[in-house]
Amino acid sequence: MSVYLDYNATTPIDPRVLEVMVNVYANNPGNADSRTHNYGDDARKIVEKGRSQVAELLQVNTDEVFFTSGATESNNIAIQGLLDYAEETGKKHIITTAIEHKAVLNTAKHMQSIGFDVDIVKPDISGRVSADNIIELVRDDTLLVSVMHVNNETGIIQPVKEIGEFLANKDVLFHIDATQSCGKLVEELRKIQYDMLSFSAHKFRGPQGIGALILRKKNYQLPPVKSVYFGGQQEHGIRPGTTPVALVAGMGTACEFASEEYGLIEENNKAIKKELLRILNESGVSFELNGDQEYCVDSTLNICFNGVSSEALMISTKQYCALSNGSACTSKSYDPSYVLVAMGVPVERIENSVRISWGAGVEMKDVLEPFSEMVDIAKALVM
Ligand code: PMP
Repeated sequence: MSVYLDYNATTPIDPRVLEVMVNVYANNPGNADSRTHNYGDDARKIVEKGRSQVAELLQVNTDEVFFTSGATESNNIAIQGLLDYAEETGKKHIITTAIEHKAVLNTAKHMQSIGFDVDIVKPDISGRVSADNIIELVRDDTLLVSVMHVNNETGIIQPVKEIGEFLANKDVLFHIDATQSCGKLVEELRKIQYDMLSFSAHKFRGPQGIGALILRKKNYQLPPVKSVYFGGQQEHGIRPGTTPVALVAGMGTACEFASEEYGLIEENNKAIKKELLRILNESGVSFELNGDQEYCVDSTLNICFNGVSSEALMISTKQYCALSNGSACTSKSYDPSYVLVAMGVPVERIENSVRISWGAGVEMKDVLEPFSEMVDIAKALVM
């Protein structure tokens, strides 16, 4: 078996999380919205415990946490859910970035197709968008600014703190896609000022198929989002549909472990990155890192091996390392990464770039040898 180093795509579930979920599946058959029996009450207690665990991780109030099926859905609700409010107020300008996940970018493009004015800000070669470039686009009719916290392909941290500070007293909603930072950059996320935040549990060892949309209240009022589909009153009507009790329990547990363990995880991630860089530097292979490493998280490397096709490298190293050359959501396409293109990385360099990402539960001893094998293969593949 190869070592799994594609944590930005998804992470293996924490066995402790799985145990909690299996227990709920086995012993709690109730619907959390049933009010006529104990099964419903018990399910509701589990869901509310999960909500408090999410709230504790992000240091928000429990009535600001809305369960969804994941970040894609949260992003859609955060953007499309503002349609009625935009019609009422005439605010129809949206600012986002060219390196957002497609769940934001394609939703913003849909808004454009129905009459919204959308500005899409590009990063520079550092992989970071400039807060000033975003701030100077804000106008009276700006409805929403949506910027990701950490980019999934490069691991580059975006200036959401600065943007949040600027927007805090403006009549403009600020949404952050924190899918790659939630449960990881725990302290940082707690300090950011935002109105809406999206994430998925499976990026930090929780189950796939669940996430949350955090809606921060201002003057006791939630941001003016509405559901994007019709249904029941679950999650205050913002996300109708039966609440998946075991998934909520799993996500809550993953949040609790993240709250307790993020310091140690971060240290381990940092130590692994240092060793991977040492191996790269000592190998003599010609490589460049995509994105300004000063702003890169400790759990991602986006490496260009000069003269080595990423497709050839990934196929030849399959037995050692599971890597990727971009987001799993777009990996069926062989087009060059739109994130690296937006950064201005030359196409031949993009074609030679692979992403390696790791995280909680990865042990140094399991990574170094397969990584060295991969680097040796890269050396042999140089054209
Ligand atoms: N946003 C970002 C930054 C992501 O990395 C991902 C997952 N690749 C998503 C949104 C979508 O998450 P999900 O597929 O869990 O809905």
